[in-house]
Amino acid sequence: MAVKIATYRALAAGPTLTVLGAVHGNERCGAQAIHRLIDEIDKGAIALERGTLQLVPVTNPKAYEKGVRFVERNLNRFLFPKEDKKFYEDRLDPIVCDVLDRTGVLLDLHSYTSQGGAFIFLGPHNAEEFAFATALGIPDFVYGWSEAFGSGDKESKESQGTTEYARSKGALAVTLECGNHLNADAPDIGYRGILRALGHLEMIDPRSLAALGAQPPTGGRRCVKMKSVYRRDAGAEFAKPWKHFDPVAKNEPMAKLAGGETLSAPDDGFIVLPKASAGPGEEWFFFGTGTTLPS
Ligand SMILES: [Zn+2]
Repeated sequence: MAVKIATYRALAAGPTLTVLGAVHGNERCGAQAIHRLIDEIDKGAIALERGTLQLVPVTNPKAYEKGVRFVERNLNRFLFPKEDKKFYEDRLDPIVCDVLDRTGVLLDLHSYTSQGGAFIFLGPHNAEEFAFATALGIPDFVYGWSEAFGSGDKESKESQGTTEYARSKGALAVTLECGNHLNADAPDIGYRGILRALGHLEMIDPRSLAALGAQPPTGGRRCVKMKSVYRRDAGAEFAKPWKHFDPVAKNEPMAKLAGGETLSAPDDGFIVLPKASAGPGEEWFFFGTGTTLPS
């Protein structure tokens, strides 16, 4: 099963933007958004004016076909080419990394399990990356991913997904989470995100953006800095049916462990990407605190 990589090169030099969809196979919105863009370009409705556009609608084809997050290994963790290829996804690593080695900017489109709307994952503070991220028109941001993972005892490469790998090669990179997997507007949020990215990088005619309307105002911006990763132990349950970005007060119960012990919020903050269905040892939810701007 091959990975489709559609590359468009304009005659004028410019940036290289890569857009990935379905790095997780059960997240369909990115693939739909990218297929829509390929159609629009191929029928001449959108023209690439400068630079190179690399589009990978389905980054994990076997997981996409099965409708699962991954087949044998989360492609968005421990992402680097490996000598010893034990799992199916290990054979995708060199293909994904090769595409990322050749990009200046990465936009990775995802969706998630809990109820909630779109937000953007940022990396360590980088003004150019933040300008790119804010141009996507989504007011909610989460950052501090690698640092939150680093606080655990796992090997540091665990937190290395597409964006971390691309940044290690000098690219600007953001993840756009388009909302819950089944949100009706998720594919459209992804599509708008790609067009705004192309507009920000001046790779398409600004008139192609007119149909999207004005950028939403930035006044309602919310920023959360991730502090910790919680993995689920067998028998542990959420204290409430958490939704993404639900606020929690310091000492408020977040979950109850199998032994009856309560897991309370270490500070005033937010629940990030809760996954009630996580299996034992799997990532269950993240906790973060509100900030004004990434720092
Ligand atoms: Zn994902």
